[in-house]
Amino acid sequence: MTGIEILDPGLEGLLSRVELPRRVIRIRRRGKYIIFELDRGFLVMHLRITGRLILGELRGPETRAILRFRGASLSFLDRRRMATAEFVEDISWLEAKLGPEPLGDLSWLPGALKRSRRPIKVWLLDQKNIAGIGNIYASEVLFVAGIDPRRPANSLSEEEAVRLSRAIREVLSEAIAHRGTTFSDYRDSSGDPGGYQEFLRVYCRAGKPCKRCGTPIERIELGGRGTFFCPRCQR
Ligand SMILES: [Zn+2]
Repeated sequence: MTGIEILDPGLEGLLSRVELPRRVIRIRRRGKYIIFELDRGFLVMHLRITGRLILGELRGPETRAILRFRGASLSFLDRRRMATAEFVEDISWLEAKLGPEPLGDLSWLPGALKRSRRPIKVWLLDQKNIAGIGNIYASEVLFVAGIDPRRPANSLSEEEAVRLSRAIREVLSEAIAHRGTTFSDYRDSSGDPGGYQEFLRVYCRAGKPCKRCGTPIERIELGGRGTFFCPRCQR
């Protein structure tokens, strides 16, 4: 990383306090965080609702910063300015607040569900339980698993918990293969919208017929978040 041009003064304190250049060892994801591992320290980003990282230099009202590397640039765009970007010395604080990855081994899941009475949809969104499932995919996963989002986590049988594990893997893998879901702002690093919105089974389909049984999809609020489900397919 050879330089950062900061266009949003709100990022000044977080991004201007390191000396560059620093070598990028690798870039990885943990939960919903993007981590640039540098030869000293880390750049940690969370794109939240409208953040984007696009290859090349894009200057516009949404551009908050431009990260420069030898031979390449990444533009950090964010319409609602809720995304975060920060240089930190270590990332143990991040590990401390994140549960296991949803695409890793999930054999621990049935046991963990037994320890919570919260609605299963709310449980799935809590990044301390499992890190990386957002509001769209929580609704989709529960439809695929055939589980009512209001059910207390500890009411799921062993068999339902295993079905849930499979549904998590299936939905997230499909969404990744389609490069994500775009309703408004999300773009991949080439600037292209994702394609998974065409395949959503319940999310944002309130009143439309269930793709499996034809019953109208219902929308409720759970933990303050819009939640979509089929009252017939999900028990
Ligand atoms: Zn249905």
